[in-house]
Amino acid sequence: MRCSDLPKFWEYKHKDANTIMTIDKNCFASDNYAGICPEAWHAMNTANNGYAISYGDDAWTAKACAEIRDLFETDCEVFFVFNGTAANSLALASLCQSYHSIICPESAHVETDECGAAEFFSNGTKLLLVGAENGKVVLDEVEHTVKRRTDIHYPKPKAISLTQSTELGTVYTTAEIAAVGELARKLDLKVHMDGARFANAVAALGVTPKEITWQAGVDVLCFGGTKNGMAVSEAVIFFDRKLAAEFDYRCKQAGQLASKMRFLSAPWIGLLESGAWLKNATHANRAAAVLEKKLSAIPGVKLKFPREANAIFIEMPPEVCEKLRAAGWRFYTFIGAGGARFLCSWRTTDSEIDALVSDITRFSTP
Ligand SMILES: *Cc1c(COP(=O)(O)O)cnc(C)c1O
Repeated sequence: MRCSDLPKFWEYKHKDANTIMTIDKNCFASDNYAGICPEAWHAMNTANNGYAISYGDDAWTAKACAEIRDLFETDCEVFFVFNGTAANSLALASLCQSYHSIICPESAHVETDECGAAEFFSNGTKLLLVGAENGKVVLDEVEHTVKRRTDIHYPKPKAISLTQSTELGTVYTTAEIAAVGELARKLDLKVHMDGARFANAVAALGVTPKEITWQAGVDVLCFGGTKNGMAVSEAVIFFDRKLAAEFDYRCKQAGQLASKMRFLSAPWIGLLESGAWLKNATHANRAAAVLEKKLSAIPGVKLKFPREANAIFIEMPPEVCEKLRAAGWRFYTFIGAGGARFLCSWRTTDSEIDALVSDITRFSTP
């Protein structure tokens, strides 16, 4: 990486304090733009002590798995991989044979943002897309997709994949997940949950993790650590242990078995023991709520979806969008169903929110 590739900083004049503050205008592009939170960093530092058995047979990993079992209040099987794409696609591959199919909303990350990894790692299992409302799968369409064909020429539906919180920043309620679980049982489908932002959903709903996973019929959860504040780590959690058979081989073959596994697992201990996993998610959700309130007050700005977690999608005039980009703000407009997306993270500050709101307000004023 060259120096010129490093993040640029812009000056922002804080209107109240009248002091010059430095705002990094990359701050709302994604929650994976934020670095490592102190608790995860501390845990990695703590684990960086002497020798430990490699490939996951170490004490840190055993403890992290035990903490996750405690958190979910069940004897689940746990694996740690480097990223969400691997977590999702390997988990889905473990539910299906190559002639099966996976039902997911058209807006699903596994469909739009994983470069065909689910199909690749499952040797060709097909994704069958169904409609979604505000990022949540439409159950009638799931049923129709399963029942419209039962002959041998159709890729046999075997799993359903849902994202919690969703790609559009909404959150399935406990009842909505239970309804998916119930339909899945009726149709003989396994349930996979992409939980890249699972913590944000737990924080938004104020529930225990078990209520929106295994108690509601979820078979396997990919619990995101990265966007919650870790460097790299996603936990693949099998509530039905039988489904985890030989999953270790899948991880190894996919290049996802870390030899220094303790650095993927220890951060989980740090975040779970301190409660930072929920604190981080709560902070991000609250920051997004504040941003939502301030942005909604700007004439010409319209919220595209209900904000329920840490993501906000807005519609604004194209010239405002352009000026915002020219001023250095980074945000995505290709994700979900369009609009400008702003994400809050564990480290979002009031000054960052004020800086963005101030610029959008300024550019929106004729
Ligand atoms: C970020 C994200 C992932 C994981 O992506 P990786 O870049 O592979 O870690 C998975 N699902 C959703 C919904 C995400 O937002």
